[in-house]
Amino acid sequence: MRITFLGTGTSQGVPVIGCECEVCKSVNKKDKRLRSSVLIEEDDKNIIIDTGPDLRQQSLKNNICKIDFVLYTHAHRDHVSGIDELRSFNFIQKEEIHGFGNKELVNQLKNDYSYIFQNQNYPGLPKVDLEIVNKIFTYKGIEVIPIQAFHHKLKILGYRIKDFTYLTDVKTLEENELKKINGSKVLVINCLQIKEHISHLNLEEALELVDKIEVEKVYFTHISHNLGLYDKIESILPRKVNLAYDTLKVEL
Ligand SMILES: [Zn+2]
Ligand SMILES: [Zn+2]
Ligand SMILES: [Zn+2]
Repeated sequence: MRITFLGTGTSQGVPVIGCECEVCKSVNKKDKRLRSSVLIEEDDKNIIIDTGPDLRQQSLKNNICKIDFVLYTHAHRDHVSGIDELRSFNFIQKEEIHGFGNKELVNQLKNDYSYIFQNQNYPGLPKVDLEIVNKIFTYKGIEVIPIQAFHHKLKILGYRIKDFTYLTDVKTLEENELKKINGSKVLVINCLQIKEHISHLNLEEALELVDKIEVEKVYFTHISHNLGLYDKIESILPRKVNLAYDTLKVEL
């Protein structure tokens, strides 16, 4: 299995428009972050988690020519608003693309992007089929375990495929959901900034959570310019924890 980080930034991305801070002004490529998403390549299948506003750019940059299905975490714009870019893959693949998410996500997307789901039969519309999931399922031969978490009060999903677990925009996780992550080789989890935040884990909370889970390697994602410079934060993290950066590839 190969993981490619397509984006590792929070909702505004890094640099933030108009910001003069040292992170936004940094010349280190690892301090430039598109909105959060990953590509999972497993058994000749390409799975992406979320379709954020940078999906077009991310697909071009990483040479993605096929998407077998999409796993959605939640319906905030930084995770869904690139949904129209799935059209390019509809054109290439000549088929609908299946997306999975919880009830909240599916209802919200059908409402917010109603033009896609109203069967208007206009040839230029994205062809996306959404399915509600709340327990383990298999699609195109890939077994996926949804993991429920809370983003402030919003119910969101993370996903585990084999030894890889991806969670973003988490603030809290119940004990029985935590157990589903145990034994993963690689865990990706959000870490927004140093200061506390109402709906995201900050650095301290993300490290505390990681301590409770049996995993070999952890990558932090959904990072804000307020976390600090890549080099600086990377140097203070425990050995098994790293900051993710855009285009990073991890094999497992
Ligand atoms: Zn987000
Ligand atoms: Zn900044
Ligand atoms: Zn969010």
